[in-house]
Amino acid sequence: MDKEKLLKLAENPNNITGIYNYCNRWCERCSFTSKCLNFQMGEEESADTESNDINNKKFWDKLSEIFKITLEMIYEDAAKMGIDLDAIDTTDFTKKEELLNQEAENHVCATESYKYIDMVKKWFESYSEITKSKQHELTQKAELEIPGTDPIKEIENINDVCDVIHWYQYQIHIKTKRAIHGMLGNFNDDDESDYPNDSDGSAKVALIGIDDSIAAWGELMNIFPSEENEILNILVHLERLRKTIEKTFPKARAFKRAGFDD
Ligand code: SF4
Repeated sequence: MDKEKLLKLAENPNNITGIYNYCNRWCERCSFTSKCLNFQMGEEESADTESNDINNKKFWDKLSEIFKITLEMIYEDAAKMGIDLDAIDTTDFTKKEELLNQEAENHVCATESYKYIDMVKKWFESYSEITKSKQHELTQKAELEIPGTDPIKEIENINDVCDVIHWYQYQIHIKTKRAIHGMLGNFNDDDESDYPNDSDGSAKVALIGIDDSIAAWGELMNIFPSEENEILNILVHLERLRKTIEKTFPKARAFKRAGFDD
């Protein structure tokens, strides 16, 4: 993609500005694809399967090209504002960033959301063992064609619930850490400012991920009652995390995400 193409896409009046900033990035399930610049940029390249394959050089070349164009535009805008980006000394900033990053990583919201990643990983390690009897049960139902049962639908439901859990497994931590990082760095923490507070927005995305994950685990517990204790442990952990994030970011739930909350 060249700069002109990118600018043309960015000028599309149907797009909702910044909608991609506080979404869950699950484009396949998003009803705003026709209004999202981020999605359209991806679509531009999607005909070329090689440039969408993370293992292919073309994929990385495409990313590097978009990065170069974006940087070029930032430099142009900065120059228009009389700022010479090359003249800025970043030594102090880098040091502060490292400390801030460390502090954010040690915050209870970040450590607990990171723990959740491991809990999911551990549970799914024994997934094939857990699902054995269910698979047997569903095969039998399919073979016997028991009236009132729909094994295909049941399988789809299990896959869907697992997809939801996997989708948010890392995202909850990433968004939570971003929120903490912004809060500790006091970025955009001005109550008088009209500009939305990024920490609250990121915390909201994390909270939505937690809500959906709690619902998905609840469904899994119904499907695999023998797993009740293990799943309850995970649910208790998620519920505590949810409350801690809500306490840390009391305005997060009320944050208005462009498009989604309008
Ligand atoms: S707003 Fe929707 S289409 Fe755009 S990046 Fe987010 S999930 Fe994808």
